[in-house]
Amino acid sequence: MKMRASILPCLLLALLAACGRAPQPAAPAQAESSEAHHDDAPASTVIAPKVAAASGIEVAAAAPGVIADEHEIQGLLTPVEGRVAKVTARFPGPIRSLRAGVGDAVRAGEPLATIESNLSLTPYTIRAPIGGVVLERGASVGSVAGEGTPLYEIADLSELWVDLHVFGADAQHIRAGTAVVVTRMDDGAVAETKLERILPATASASQSTIARATLRNDDGRWRPGTAVRARVTVDRQPVAIALPLGALQTVDADDVVYVREGDVYSTRVVKLGRRDAQRAEILAGVKAGEQVVVVQSFLVKADIGKSSAEHED
Ligand SMILES: [Zn+2]
Repeated sequence: MKMRASILPCLLLALLAACGRAPQPAAPAQAESSEAHHDDAPASTVIAPKVAAASGIEVAAAAPGVIADEHEIQGLLTPVEGRVAKVTARFPGPIRSLRAGVGDAVRAGEPLATIESNLSLTPYTIRAPIGGVVLERGASVGSVAGEGTPLYEIADLSELWVDLHVFGADAQHIRAGTAVVVTRMDDGAVAETKLERILPATASASQSTIARATLRNDDGRWRPGTAVRARVTVDRQPVAIALPLGALQTVDADDVVYVREGDVYSTRVVKLGRRDAQRAEILAGVKAGEQVVVVQSFLVKADIGKSSAEHED
């Protein structure tokens, strides 16, 4: 195994006062013995702790982890079906009063409007058919309501539907019961729920299937019509060793990571299993507890690559 002082310090002139070659600690005994067995030993480099820190190189112990199958899906909040009421005039006549405005909370049975009937010439009261929030007010005081003129739209928003638009093959493996984390796009607020049902067939021209969850909205902060982003976790598989994707590099078409022993960083060819957006399963090449570069691994790769090139001939 070839071992030499790192050239990283020279890459970091801006960060460090001097670019000297400080005496390097001896390589661990294991490195020596591997040389005996492999002509083609994995390339290594020595990086002093001070230099590693200044370069932002971070190391973590290889450990068990979870590989999740997660999907990010866009969706829209809508009122729950059957919990929206349109309030209309029963008999034609001038509107004498309207007692609620858009955004007001009203109780079931609460008087909302008084209209003087053209038929009986006496006023009658319109009451809220359900409790909820006034979404729309469709008339103004003094105007004449015809029979069926919309006065109010009221919705019970204590729960909302989250309708997620699932496309293509995703629809096949996203199932009811799956955990969902919903994020409001404008301020990043989050809520946890579960998918209740996947609506049958492809409903719309967009060729999407709707996956529906219900969201508690006791504080009224979630509003219908709001766009949301949902993370649907379809599957979570525990694995013996998982490393962040930032640990992975490719050398000559091999997937590799860099293992630190003391100040020595060695290339290790690994066999990858499953992966998700953050992590990859390591099937072979690294043992639990080994110290693996998980941040700035490309700097270690570059350092080893330059060292090798310098001494090749
Ligand atoms: Zn999936």
